Amino acid sequence: MIQEAQKRVAKSLNHPIFHTIRDISEELNKPAFVIGGFVRDLYLNRPSKDIDVVVLGSGIELAERVAKKLGGLRLTVFKNFGTAMLRYRDLEVEFVGARKESYQRNSRKPIVEDGTLEDDQNRRDFTINALALSLCEENYGELVDPFDGISDMENGVIRTPLEPGITFSDDPLRMMRAIRFATQLNFRIEEGTFDGIKSQNERIDIVSSERIADELNKIVMAERPSIGFKLLELTGLLQIIFPEFQAMKGVDKVDGRAHKDNFYHTLEVLDRIVPNTDNLWLRWSAILHDIAKPRTKRYDKKLGWTFHNHNFIGQKMIPKIFGRMKLPLNEKMKYVQKMVGLHMRPIVLSEDVVSDSAVRRLLFEAGDDIDDLMTLCEADITSKNEAKVKKYMRNFKVVRRKLKEIEEKDHVRNFQPPVTGEMIMDTFALQPCKEIGDLKAIIKEAILEGEISNNYDEAFELMLKKGEEMGLKRAK
Ligand code: ATP
Repeated sequence: MIQEAQKRVAKSLNHPIFHTIRDISEELNKPAFVIGGFVRDLYLNRPSKDIDVVVLGSGIELAERVAKKLGGLRLTVFKNFGTAMLRYRDLEVEFVGARKESYQRNSRKPIVEDGTLEDDQNRRDFTINALALSLCEENYGELVDPFDGISDMENGVIRTPLEPGITFSDDPLRMMRAIRFATQLNFRIEEGTFDGIKSQNERIDIVSSERIADELNKIVMAERPSIGFKLLELTGLLQIIFPEFQAMKGVDKVDGRAHKDNFYHTLEVLDRIVPNTDNLWLRWSAILHDIAKPRTKRYDKKLGWTFHNHNFIGQKMIPKIFGRMKLPLNEKMKYVQKMVGLHMRPIVLSEDVVSDSAVRRLLFEAGDDIDDLMTLCEADITSKNEAKVKKYMRNFKVVRRKLKEIEEKDHVRNFQPPVTGEMIMDTFALQPCKEIGDLKAIIKEAILEGEISNNYDEAFELMLKKGEEMGLKRAK
């Protein structure tokens, strides 16, 4: 691995941007290094376009000179942070002076002073994120790795460079980052580091909900998000940041009958949906589909464990959860609510004879999200009983086929009533009144029940008939 990686490093550092930085840092006599995520990703063979350059001097001065040399590139300067950023071709390069940081108890914001490369590496969160490559003439491309991050990379380990308790207490966001990296890279969190998170978990309170949500979303978008959620649970963080999910863990037993553990079931559904969708919100729907099970759980001597209405109650719980987590409260949340509310429907449908009107109703309610809903429901079949799984999957195929047939025939997805309220008012010379709504509802019902087709002529005819029955007089 290392030899291959070294070749990638050499090739990458042959890019003109690095040569320019080297030349200017030589002129200024201020050594510069590429550091952090870009170096880590080079070794892991995950090409990255974000480059961090640290210089033993002013980051802004180096950036200004590099931008000028490359033909007057536009530079974005953040004076307060002493950093500057430029874009060169498809790369984004950020320059910063090496710094030393010290923290106060009540803030993630450190006191910053100029420092050495070593100081700068000490303030990094994990050994794999502290690697630096020299851009100095005399040892161009040499790796500076004071904490043996390379071994951790090879062994797949997340470890803090300094004492973990202090590292996490200083900036508790690092706890989320540790779990996020472990999930994305499928790495193990080293024991001491893990214990450090456990002991500092309450410090997560000083991190903003937005930053926590960013990390959480990265976990959700990983290939196996369950890794992250299990770690969040084991470290005690889940209870703090997402107590509703924590509440799903565990099983109750009455009369020797237990229900399934909904925490692990949900994680299985989540992992199962991953190959079928890049849609963050469909993945969130998988996380939340059974979120109301703890609240709706009842034991009935005859029926055993029941979770009546957990889909509707779950749907109602979502605004509070999204609000607290600073997830969006717009149409994305509405989509998740819809998925959670409807997630039982295809299963119920497939248990029975699949009637056209039931399919039409589902299509009407799910609209364009019907495929996503089916994807969620298929992922939700986690039974270990193979015969059962086969039966469900077969039935889902029937449902999918019926959905397609009926959609082609009736176009009920994105249903627009073929007869509008205005047409009803015109036809019977009505002012706004209750009868208009009643007629519209009758037409919609008739279409969904398959009594008439979804077109103007049949709907208009029905409107006339029902209008007359209601005692309305046709005006034209
Ligand atoms: P990704 O690009 O996947 O989000 P990254 O860590 O490479 O991950 P940044 O968040 O931009 O991207 O961080 C760049 C580098 O800055 C990291 O590699 C790490 O060395 C350092 N760093 C970032 N956040 C922290 C932190 N909270 N504490 C200490 N070091 C950090």
